[in-house]
Amino acid sequence: MAQQQTVRKDAWLRHFYQKALNDYLDQDPLARQYNSANWIFGRQVRIARADGVNEAVVDPVARGIQDLLNDIGLDFSIVDVGVDAQANRLIRYATKSDGRIDTDVLTQSIIACGGRDFASVVLTPNYFTASDQDWGEGRFSRGTLLLALPHGRQNSLNFLRNITKHEAAHLFGYQLHHETVTVPEYKQPKDCVMYWQASTQDLCDKCKDALKAFWHGIENNSGERFLKE
Ligand SMILES: [Zn+2]
Ligand SMILES: [Zn+2]
Repeated sequence: MAQQQTVRKDAWLRHFYQKALNDYLDQDPLARQYNSANWIFGRQVRIARADGVNEAVVDPVARGIQDLLNDIGLDFSIVDVGVDAQANRLIRYATKSDGRIDTDVLTQSIIACGGRDFASVVLTPNYFTASDQDWGEGRFSRGTLLLALPHGRQNSLNFLRNITKHEAAHLFGYQLHHETVTVPEYKQPKDCVMYWQASTQDLCDKCKDALKAFWHGIENNSGERFLKE
C-alpha cells in the first residue's frame, strides 16, 4: 500500500486479509529465502537481553507485547530468556565502530541461524545506525523486534511499554503508521499507539481491524488457528 493515501474500509481490510503477507515477503527476499515468517507457528515470543540492559526493562517490554496480543486476540506466549550469549555475539557482530547497531545486519544474522519457531525480541544497550531517534524496529517477515536502550532510556518504563506495543504491532503484521493511510469510515481517534510518537497505549479501531484482518488471512492461508475467537 502506497504512502499517504485514502482508501475505503472494505479495501483497507481486504488488503490486510489477502495481500499484506505477500507484500512483506516481496519486500524482504531474505525472509523468503530463510522462511523466517514461519516463526509464527511456535506461537511464542522470546525476550533476550544483551549485557548492559537492566533486568527491570523486561517487565514493561513483556507488558507492551501482551497489550498488543490482547487487543488483537492473539494467543502467543511470552518468555524471558534473560541475558543471552548468542544475542551478545550477534550484537557484537552487528555493531559498527561508532558503537551503533546496524539493525539490518543484526536481523539478517538472527534469521540466518534458521529454523526458529518463535519471535526474537532483542534488548540492546546501543543506538541504531539509522537514527538516534529510533527506539525500536519490529518486522513480521523476520520475526524480530529490536529495542535500542542506551542507559538513559532504561528508566523510561512507561514510555518503553508504549514503544514496545508499537513495535509489537509491526512484528505482528502492521507495517504502516497510523497517519499513513486515511480510511474515512473510521473516526479520527485522539491518539493511537501507531502514530510514530507512540504517546499512548491505545490502539485505534482502524489499526486494530487491520491486524485482525491480517491474522484472519493467515489463518485462512495456513489452516491453523491463531486468534482466540
Ligand atoms: Zn513504527
Ligand atoms: Zn491507529
